[in-house]
Amino acid sequence: MDSNTTKVFSFIKNIIISPLDVLSPKHCFVCEKSITADTNVDFVCDECYYNFPLAPAPDIIMNRLAENFPPDDFAISNAIALFKVAQNSDYMKIIHSIKYYGFRRVGFQLGCELGKLIKNQLDESYDYIVPVPIHSARFRERGFNQAEILAKGIAQILNVNVHNKLIKRVRYTTTQTLLSGEERKTNVMNVFSGYNKNTKLNNEQILVVDDVLTTGSTINECAKTLLNIGARRVDIASLAVAG
Ligand SMILES: [Zn+2]
Repeated sequence: MDSNTTKVFSFIKNIIISPLDVLSPKHCFVCEKSITADTNVDFVCDECYYNFPLAPAPDIIMNRLAENFPPDDFAISNAIALFKVAQNSDYMKIIHSIKYYGFRRVGFQLGCELGKLIKNQLDESYDYIVPVPIHSARFRERGFNQAEILAKGIAQILNVNVHNKLIKRVRYTTTQTLLSGEERKTNVMNVFSGYNKNTKLNNEQILVVDDVLTTGSTINECAKTLLNIGARRVDIASLAVAG
């Protein structure tokens, strides 16, 4: 094959992997230096990869979350996250690349990393992995759910199926970013329901997945909805915790 044919083939291969990923330049998403050698994940240079701020251990995340809810309103049994990100951190660019641009390759690889952490740290087996649903109108507008992209990576490592038809988002909520803790809770109240009127679980253990964990009010609503339709236990996994 001449070099042009090779280029065309590699272009087509990239499109098949993901139409959006082909737009991502081969430079570090964090420090923006170009990446020349092989790296652990192909969108971050090794230096930034090893300096990634890691999330606290599950018991610390759980203690922090529990402070935000009255005990009888807290539906999460355990929580795990890979990274800790501050709002203005350069590492936030990675989260945004998945959330707003749907970089599937990035999300999938990080989902796999999160999956390995879950496998090593949580002694639980799950029946289903459930991405936090986005509203159908938002899905039409964006064409992807970032939590589902991550869930697929986790699913590959844990060998558990992703189930995105157990619960759905019934209200289109405004962004939570500028709201206080209490406002966030009110904003997401009754946002989710069972996927259909007849959707029922039978004592399954569920792992709910999201990209960023802040007060936990959204993901706690998911957990409540899953318990209401018959789940036995709901743990959560997030790519990052805010902090
Ligand atoms: Zn870098």
